Amino acid sequence: MTSTAAYAATSAGARLAPFTIDRRTPGARDVEIDILYCGVCHSDIHQARAEWGAAIFPMVPGHEIVGRVSRIGSDVTAFRVGDLAGVGCMVDSCRQCRECTDGEEQYCERGVTWTYNARDAKGAITFGGYSTRIVVDEAYTLRIPPALDLAGAAPLLCAGITTYSPLRHWKVGPGSTLGVLGLGGLGHMALKFGRAFGAHVVQFTTSPGKAADALRLGADEVVLSTDPAAMAARARSLDFILDTVSAPHDIDAALGLLKRDGTMTMVGVPDEPLSVAPFSLVSRRRSLAGSAIGGIAETQEMLDFCAAHGIVSDVEIIPIQQINDAYERMLRNDVKYRFVIDIASLARG
Ligand code: NAP
Ligand code: ZN
Ligand code: ZN
Repeated sequence: MTSTAAYAATSAGARLAPFTIDRRTPGARDVEIDILYCGVCHSDIHQARAEWGAAIFPMVPGHEIVGRVSRIGSDVTAFRVGDLAGVGCMVDSCRQCRECTDGEEQYCERGVTWTYNARDAKGAITFGGYSTRIVVDEAYTLRIPPALDLAGAAPLLCAGITTYSPLRHWKVGPGSTLGVLGLGGLGHMALKFGRAFGAHVVQFTTSPGKAADALRLGADEVVLSTDPAAMAARARSLDFILDTVSAPHDIDAALGLLKRDGTMTMVGVPDEPLSVAPFSLVSRRRSLAGSAIGGIAETQEMLDFCAAHGIVSDVEIIPIQQINDAYERMLRNDVKYRFVIDIASLARG
């Protein structure tokens, strides 16, 4: 065991504060990573506030982790000490079920071991990236291409793969019109991938002040979703919508934007059930779908795609001492477009 500095919530909704955790000594297939940067995902807020149901405390959030390998186990083949490495939302799964063997480990039938707010195979609580080091099986560790800016690469491990994977799955590309709902961490990555894949991209936002950024980030057009006339003008214009909104919102208004046979995929996970009028789907053979992150192999594919296309997240780097303020700012939609913690601030105390 190695004593490791971290920031934790000790109960639902408590302010995050300095906390010490133990990391296991690397086993034969483990990689120990000295964490450099960790992105701040809205899922960290949902879970630290127990908005998705029962949560495990103390909780050390953080699943957008980039760092440098400091130790490896005797059987590790894919990493050497000194390599860059990344960890996303998963640190283990059963490796045997149909989902795992298909490379869709995030849907493991026996249950994924999430990076935090979970228990590992031995029953120990998992702790995330708001900490100075982490120990992870090499099979769930990603290679970070050295060409990528490291702070900007951290959010790729969740916001990146969560938007890349559904755009690939639903074959968004040249000739398709993509709508993105919400311009936050996930939304801004969806704009970058939508443009890189060759789609015509329309950003829907509740924040008028984000319009110029949306165009810079990859949107061809921006629509203020609070303006009924602007929404009506877009009716039946989109082939695919990626819904990244973190709070309850009007699903029927969004479905009305889809053409016949269009699909809206939810990646945002508001903490309350949302209502859908059946006619929103029935009247134009529309589909409403969902998607969770992406498998390990697809996450590596996404990282390599980002290196080849010069894509990283637009980040605001913060010391960990500002994490509670960062949460409040995200809840006010005031993030451009991902907070990333400089973990050196934690080592400095
Ligand atoms: P974020 O950075 O806080 O962005 C969310 C954006 O949603 C806001 O910036 C805002 O954009 C919009 N929004 C917020 N409240 C709204 C409301 N009431 N009505 C309409 N729009 C609203 O959050 P994030 O990190 O991108 O995460 C977004 C959601 O995805 C969260 O629920 C998170 O838990 C979930 N998530 C899911 C997965 C998955 O695997 N499916 C992975 C990661 C995250 P505008 O200012 O542009 O309106
Ligand atoms: Zn996340
Ligand atoms: Zn499995």
